[in-house]
Amino acid sequence: MKWKKQLLSLKAYQPGRTINEVKKQYGLEEIVKLASNENPLGCSPKAAEVIRNFSNSYALYPDGYAAELREALSVSLQVRQEQLIFGDGSDELIQIISRALLHPGNNTVMATGTFSQYKHNAIIEGSEIREVPLIDGAHDLNSMLDAIDDNTVIVWLCSPNNPTGVYINNQAITDFLSKVPKDVLVVLDEAYKEYVHAEDYYDALALVKEHKNLIVLRTFSKIYGLASLRVGYGIADETIVKVLDPARPPFNVNALGQAAAIAAVHDQEFVKHCREANINGLQQFYRFCEEQNLSYFPSQGNFILIDFNCDGNEVFQFLMEKGYIVRSGVPLGFPTYIRVTVGSKEQNAGVISKMEEFFAAKAALS
Ligand SMILES: *Cc1c(COP(=O)(O)O)cnc(C)c1O
Repeated sequence: MKWKKQLLSLKAYQPGRTINEVKKQYGLEEIVKLASNENPLGCSPKAAEVIRNFSNSYALYPDGYAAELREALSVSLQVRQEQLIFGDGSDELIQIISRALLHPGNNTVMATGTFSQYKHNAIIEGSEIREVPLIDGAHDLNSMLDAIDDNTVIVWLCSPNNPTGVYINNQAITDFLSKVPKDVLVVLDEAYKEYVHAEDYYDALALVKEHKNLIVLRTFSKIYGLASLRVGYGIADETIVKVLDPARPPFNVNALGQAAAIAAVHDQEFVKHCREANINGLQQFYRFCEEQNLSYFPSQGNFILIDFNCDGNEVFQFLMEKGYIVRSGVPLGFPTYIRVTVGSKEQNAGVISKMEEFFAAKAALS
């Protein structure tokens, strides 16, 4: 077969271990998964009700234009309907954008120590990848600007950044956007936007109004708690959406996902409740880190990256055997860290007590 040769060097996305796998392997009854930044509170009860009562025929294709969801979001975000594009998760939007712009001979700029899918898709499209290391968990925007040349087509930003949780502030992104050439697409992935509590965070929708080369990506998978239904969306100037939309598969967002997302948008009280619970959860981890003298990145997301000063895989393995699935920092580019999703108060206390056991066990050995 005459495959794209770069495909032969890639591995499929390695998802976190599933709850059932881990239960079986270690003979555990209870497993807490804090590995994929899912919402421990689930989804809005209103969305859950829509899901329970969903009565559309599964034989029919979904609305390929997602007209009702489009209208609901356009009202809630105060953008024109033509400014929205929907994806089978924002992962698919990353793929669509990559497919639309990247090819051998051009290049794309991104951070190292960020969401893996920007690079993964760029490799498949055969574009040159220019990686700019994070500084203290943050995008090095000046070096990213320096990396742009005439052949650059996309710059990827992730704010708050997965896996560090560090955000870009208003001043920094405003300066950056004013300097990026107007024919370079800036993708601003805001999967965790609804969790942000920093006061100097920017208003992405105001930036979209000002910059016709900016697309903002958001998702129903994180704070909205609908990851299994796969709904993401992009917001951009309509001139961008018009060109991208033909690269989107015709019925990419399923009907149940569309219906649940509409109900979720209409329940902003739930979003607020989750944001506040998450801030309290982060405080539990900050206290633990300070007690143990561990360094960590202050997070604006629903996860925290903690430096254990040892092999992250070892911590991961220890916690998994105790019933807590977290993410090792090793594949994320932070080999001595682990990334933990902020769970419920009880789940956080539980994983923290196992982390304390980890240190106690280490101390006993030495
Ligand atoms: C989780 C995540 C996504 C993917 O979200 P889906 O909408 O579920 O595809 C995209 N970007 C970042 C940074 C994420 O953490």
